[in-house]
Amino acid sequence: MAVQFVRWPWLGVAIPGSVIASLGATSIYYVFKLGYATPIYRSIFVGSYLMVCLSYYMAIKTPPGSPPKNFKIVKTETPKKMWYKYCMKCKIYKPERCHHCKTCKKCVLRMDHHCPWTMNCVGYKNFPHFQRFLWWVTIALSHNMVFLFKRLQYYYSIRNLPYYLVPITEMTIIILNTLLSSLVYLTVGILALRIIWSMVNNKTMIESWELERIEEQFYSERFWFNIRSNFAKIYPGKPFPKLSSWKLHYRSKLSENSLVPYDFSYDDFVFPYSCSLYTNMVSSMGPIYLWFWPWGGPSGDGLHYERNTEDEDQLQLPFPPDGADFEPNVHDAEVSSTRLDNEDVLKTWSNGFGETLTDFGVDLETENIETYKHK
Ligand SMILES: [Zn+2]
Ligand SMILES: [Zn+2]
Repeated sequence: MAVQFVRWPWLGVAIPGSVIASLGATSIYYVFKLGYATPIYRSIFVGSYLMVCLSYYMAIKTPPGSPPKNFKIVKTETPKKMWYKYCMKCKIYKPERCHHCKTCKKCVLRMDHHCPWTMNCVGYKNFPHFQRFLWWVTIALSHNMVFLFKRLQYYYSIRNLPYYLVPITEMTIIILNTLLSSLVYLTVGILALRIIWSMVNNKTMIESWELERIEEQFYSERFWFNIRSNFAKIYPGKPFPKLSSWKLHYRSKLSENSLVPYDFSYDDFVFPYSCSLYTNMVSSMGPIYLWFWPWGGPSGDGLHYERNTEDEDQLQLPFPPDGADFEPNVHDAEVSSTRLDNEDVLKTWSNGFGETLTDFGVDLETENIETYKHK
């Protein structure tokens, strides 16, 4: 469940800032005081700690990127690549993968999530800094943990010495440092794994949430009712494609009147932005030679993104396939009559972590669900 500092948002930066400062200062002090390991090791230790501080500063200070005022969506492209989304609050068209953050109060390009720990959105421009911050924390903490456990081993070996020969202050600080480091290692580790997984698959946290929602609803009549109406609306007169699966007879036959396709599973559904591993990494982290460069930025313009080859995508619908267009002052009467309302689903559905779309910072009032709300 997402942490939120509604009253004092600065706590989100003050807490990790104090933790980084106290862990770094005490560990570096004892590493040098005790002459631990080699000078090269000590340089790596201090270097990775400085990179933690620098990448954290960059993740806080670098804006995530917002769409330009004059951004226009090409409406004539086929197959249609994205829903026409208009932000009523920023008064701009939203490019693909863009959402309006309710905390930052602006549209964010390739919005991943709003991070209370940087008081900033993680988006197109600062994703590499956020990613590097997690990498450096993991590297620095791994070094730290080895040092701390060696020190704890030493205390155990001198447990039979009289107490006045035991370095009590040092031991207390090292034990506190170990407890705090373990806690940070666990929490940052979970976040790092989650965001690395997002990066290699080129899915933002919000898109991962959407995919989990789609997976859960994939065999429901309601979902396929919306898919079929979207297809009919986008490709008028064209018959619905004959969907096929690489799996054979993976489930029993459906009833005669079912809208759910018989031979099409969730595994056959194509997430449009997931390409090869290398393309996915470059798309979010920028050119490979800049991945560890502290000021390295992403590739592209943040408004358009490379896609999976179109022949693999049998549905040829924008993502999410059960989404809808949302344009200002356009009363699309067809929408309400030809599709089922997704409003409640988008507002209340939660994933395995118990997170709703709001937990990632998305302002639901600016999402497509408004189309239905005003009717
Ligand atoms: Zn906006
Ligand atoms: Zn934000």
